Amino acid sequence: MLEDKKKKKNPGQKLLASLPSMTVLLQNDEVVNLIAEYPERYVQKCLREILDDTRQKILKGKITDAEQTPDISDVISLARKRVKAGLGNKIMRVINGAGVILHTGLGRAALSDSALDALTEASTRYSLLATDRDSGKRGDRFSHTDELLCELTGAEASLVVNNNSAAVMLALNTFGAGKESIVSRGELVEIGGAFRIPDVMERSGTIMVEVGTTNKTHLRDYRNAITEETSLLLKVHTSNYRIEGFHGEVGEAEMSALAREKNLITVMDLGSGAMVDIRRWGVAHEPTVPQAVKDGMDIITFSGDKMLGGPQCGILIGKKELIAQMKVNPLMRAFRCGKLTLSALNGTLRLFLNPDTLPQTHPVYEMIGTPMDVIKLRAQRLARRLRAIEGFKEAIDISIGTGLTEMGSGSLPARGIATHVVAMTPKACSAENLSTALRQATPPLFTRIEEEQVKIDARTITDKEVVWIGEVMREVLGRI
Ligand SMILES: *Cc1c(COP(=O)(O)O)cnc(C)c1O
Repeated sequence: MLEDKKKKKNPGQKLLASLPSMTVLLQNDEVVNLIAEYPERYVQKCLREILDDTRQKILKGKITDAEQTPDISDVISLARKRVKAGLGNKIMRVINGAGVILHTGLGRAALSDSALDALTEASTRYSLLATDRDSGKRGDRFSHTDELLCELTGAEASLVVNNNSAAVMLALNTFGAGKESIVSRGELVEIGGAFRIPDVMERSGTIMVEVGTTNKTHLRDYRNAITEETSLLLKVHTSNYRIEGFHGEVGEAEMSALAREKNLITVMDLGSGAMVDIRRWGVAHEPTVPQAVKDGMDIITFSGDKMLGGPQCGILIGKKELIAQMKVNPLMRAFRCGKLTLSALNGTLRLFLNPDTLPQTHPVYEMIGTPMDVIKLRAQRLARRLRAIEGFKEAIDISIGTGLTEMGSGSLPARGIATHVVAMTPKACSAENLSTALRQATPPLFTRIEEEQVKIDARTITDKEVVWIGEVMREVLGRI
């Protein structure tokens, strides 16, 4: 009697019993095929996890009828997804409709063909990475990018490390460890993640001496702070935010004059490091590397995957004897990068020898330099393609509007590049739901939500991707 009652109260027992057993699953042809491709133990683990998850849902009352309970083909399809998510190609290509050109979460810069060719050439078999072909002896791995960097920036010498954070750390550690480094309070920035100037300075072993105030620092502030213990003056480009109003900082030229007078070194963390003045494409000003060299900064550091649009790396340029000192710092071995990076960087840098053709040769500059009328045509083509999909008009209102593309990665803070967007308002679900579904499609499409609309920026997608977005939408319409 008691048992009967319990059974009635717990209809889950029947659902639990309806789940396929591991023995049955392992005999299924689809599972056998999956095991031919992936390790059996891993496939079994994923199947077990799916079954366990389902059992838990039944026991907790989240699944209450047969309709919601996965059958054998559902279990297999979920397990296949899990196996592929775990052991398949994870760094999947995505479509960036979000309108952020250097999107750190999406891999920052889109690489040029020139970079890819150089990378393939150097990496498929063997290369002259660190060998001098004349002597046959060990050469300098930085020789492949050194002349280019010097030619492009006007510096005497260069060095390449894993990222700009490592570059800043290396410079501060080499010249400032155990001594004082002076920095303006207005430049103690956080760049996102763990990169905060005060923390990096502390870890480098230098003693941070703050001068000035948040909004104003004068040359006399630096001058008054210089002591016997001072090693260097640090200048940081406050790349990801902008102070409006009563604001003043000491320029590079003034600072380097003071450093020369006092026999100190100047180190500048330039952040995004534009090689060319991007105002030529009608975009707001971003300080350039050649200008910082002209202004007399001794060491300048910047990222390889921001405005340069190359692989992730950090570049140090400056005075020959200072670069030589950094090369022999023991940290260098930990910070140095490999052939993938150096070859792709070489292929990227070569494009800057001819800045006029950058919009044709470099995807980042194509995005920056494409005129508004061309972007508008792309947006219109995308909207036409979407409207033509069966069931689209019933599910989603669509229009074309203007907007702003962001440079991203802390370049051009608070100033965008004018663009055209395709704006979608789903009728039966929220903008959030639509944008999530688009992200989960194959390939994933990233959008941005503004004013309750899902927007696709036509500046950060290619013409080929316009076609793909049509396919993505077809897949998603059935799910929202
Ligand atoms: C982006 C940035 C960094 C960090 O560079 P990574 O290459 O991402 O390590 C450091 N300083 C400034 C000013 C930056 O803009």
